Amino acid sequence: MDLSLFPRIQLGHFPTPLEPMANLTALLGGPRLWVKRDDCTGLSTGGNKTRKLEYLMAEAIAARADVVITQGATQSNHARQTAAAAAKLGMKCHILLEDRTGSTDPDYTDNGNVLLDRLHGATVDRRSGGSNMQQEMEQLAEQLKADGARPYVIPGGGSTPVGALGYVSAAMELASQAAARGLRMDYLVHATGSAGTQAGLVAGLHAINSDTKLLGIGVRAPQEKQEAMVYDLACRTAEHMRMGGGIPRELVSANCDYVGAGYGLPTAGMLEAVEILARTEGLLLDPVYSGKGMAGLIDLIRKGYFKANDNVVFLHTGGSVALFGYGDAFGLKSSQG
Ligand SMILES: *Cc1c(COP(=O)(O)O)cnc(C)c1O
Repeated sequence: MDLSLFPRIQLGHFPTPLEPMANLTALLGGPRLWVKRDDCTGLSTGGNKTRKLEYLMAEAIAARADVVITQGATQSNHARQTAAAAAKLGMKCHILLEDRTGSTDPDYTDNGNVLLDRLHGATVDRRSGGSNMQQEMEQLAEQLKADGARPYVIPGGGSTPVGALGYVSAAMELASQAAARGLRMDYLVHATGSAGTQAGLVAGLHAINSDTKLLGIGVRAPQEKQEAMVYDLACRTAEHMRMGGGIPRELVSANCDYVGAGYGLPTAGMLEAVEILARTEGLLLDPVYSGKGMAGLIDLIRKGYFKANDNVVFLHTGGSVALFGYGDAFGLKSSQG
């Protein structure tokens, strides 16, 4: 698979490191745990959206866009990385934030990612939970066009066949890192939301005939819906790459047992996972995605899902900036006044 055919612009630091998690492995009594550090992509505190944006922003430049529009939840890491990418490329950025949690905590509504969105110079507008966010973006794009601007709309999470190329590329990067250190990668586990990360990984691992088993841990939708979203986008990504033969449906696997009460709402497992990783590995997960992903991984380990000598790589997708919006959930909020 030759990805050099697709326009890409450099925004991040690659390859990101692949590191052992020796303390967590010892604490849980195996399997052998590793972490792929996509929290260290380098753009505005990092995260998985940087890889997608390297392809998406190249398309925006090709379209001669002067403003990008995107959307996400209030504490969207995607919005923050998009705002940073736009700043770096001299484009304006409009962000629409959907209130998916109903939290009125000012740390949630204005600190963390929201503070950084604004610091990068993006315009931030709010929409109530359940709004048709794609339609809201398209309306805004029409207004901007009427005013003479050239907007480029990035769907939520950057999860399009173009954005997913970032994770096709990541699959290849990770496979060659593992090979270079003689590591047989039995499983790759990560948090899955808008599906672009998993779809790209499915297509990329399939393209290189990898036998690593990929498992997404859902953070929003129920399993059937999540797997359907990932499969659909993986197929469209494979088509976009003109990969023959299609994507076998059984390559898509998502476990959505760790969502809890809903997207962005804390669970006991997430709080435990964030604290364990912070205290054993010095690693910062996030409350919405990687914390729930790791909660799922820890629970599956405790249930004996893996063999003791399996090598399990956790893809750390970033997001720790959102912790500053969730101090309350950890009982670590400074008292006011
Ligand atoms: C967006 C995001 C994810 C999920 O990736 P998708 O491609 O949307 O499935 C996981 N972790 C973090 C920290 C994210 O910001």
